[in-house]
Amino acid sequence: MNRRFYRIGLVAALIALTGLLFIQVYGFIKAYRLEEKQFNEKVNVALREVADGILTINHQHQKRIDPVVQTASNTYFVPIHHSISYRPLDSLLRKTFTEHNILQPFSLTVYTESDSVILGSFYNAGPGSSDDPTCMGRDEQNIPMNFAVTFPVQNAHIVGAMDLWIFTAATFIAILILFAFMITDQAKQKKLALMKNDFLSNMTHELQTPITNISMASEVLLRNPDIETKKKSRYLEIIQQENQRLKHQVEQVLQTAAMDKGEFLLTRQTINLNHLIGDIVEKFRFRVEQRFGLLKSELKAANPHVAGDALHLTNIFFNLLDNAEKYSRDEPNITVSSHDSESGVMISIEDHGIGMSDQSINSIFDQFYRASSGNIHDVKGFGLGLTYVKKIVEAHHGMISVKSRLNYGSTFMIVLPNQVNG
Ligand code: ADP
Repeated sequence: MNRRFYRIGLVAALIALTGLLFIQVYGFIKAYRLEEKQFNEKVNVALREVADGILTINHQHQKRIDPVVQTASNTYFVPIHHSISYRPLDSLLRKTFTEHNILQPFSLTVYTESDSVILGSFYNAGPGSSDDPTCMGRDEQNIPMNFAVTFPVQNAHIVGAMDLWIFTAATFIAILILFAFMITDQAKQKKLALMKNDFLSNMTHELQTPITNISMASEVLLRNPDIETKKKSRYLEIIQQENQRLKHQVEQVLQTAAMDKGEFLLTRQTINLNHLIGDIVEKFRFRVEQRFGLLKSELKAANPHVAGDALHLTNIFFNLLDNAEKYSRDEPNITVSSHDSESGVMISIEDHGIGMSDQSINSIFDQFYRASSGNIHDVKGFGLGLTYVKKIVEAHHGMISVKSRLNYGSTFMIVLPNQVNG
């Protein structure tokens, strides 16, 4: 029920936010248009006043003023059909614009009736500026003329005048980002909680098996003190094996807890990775051969020396071999190799096991993650091994990557930097 309410609430919130976003965009466009319209009106009135002023200077009080024509979104053409002197026109424009609070930069162009340019000012700093207008062309011709004014940064100015809108839009976008962040964070927390639950039930189950086996074997020994020696050794062997298993499981959990708290220390020494991995492979061979599998080692790195922690490095290669064997449904076929690479020693562990989907590959290094497709949960594990491997590799300034194809197998590659001599 709770989950349903949560989902409905989420969808409702998303719809509301999308609606608000549309209202915001619509409002912004409307406000922009209104601001633009008001600006156009102001400029129109000011330019008609200027045209009137020019005609008055030229004693043409009776002459009709034609309407100002907007030839582009930021250009206004004023047809006055009368001789114009550049300087008086420029100062009249500046004065009138200032009176109408039109303070942005503009450029002025004077045309003949046949529309050829006779005078043009470059873009100046605006009516308030005391700069001398830079003017090009021939002045003082006694022929009918018209002029045009262009505002090169008009759009920016209009947007600038809408600061309240921009502030609201920015706040709104910030709320949207926060909302998205909260949703993804909550989804992550939920996934983690589910994985932790899985882990706890899995762990309880995993610990129970060796405990039950140990108690059964010890009970048989206690009840039958005269049991024959062969059988006795078999039961003692079971107790020892199950104890080892228990120890490994508890260590794995403790290691992860210590790493989470940042409490693990590396004791570095010079390590020949070919030797270290060769030893692990030999210890592991029995397990693979018991399943009639094949374990090849091609340790060919010419410079296999790294400065590393022997215990942790042994653990991580053991974990990777353990996975390669565990996740092989048929007889395991595993190849462990080492090469020299530009960034150090490259070790790869290749299996022909069940492989992984692309989706799984993205999550295998996450704590508690275990692929849930297929029937691989027959395979024991806590979902902690690869998290540990990655942390240890990174603590050695190395890199880990994986290539895998579902049903075809996986290859884990680790590069550890060579020991720097001296
Ligand atoms: P565990 O093996 O204890 O579940 P790991 O952290 O070692 O935990 O591995 C996480 C998951 O990655 C495994 O549950 C499995 O789904 C997948 N995985 C790891 N190694 C392999 C492999 N060699 N082949 C296929 N899947 C693998």
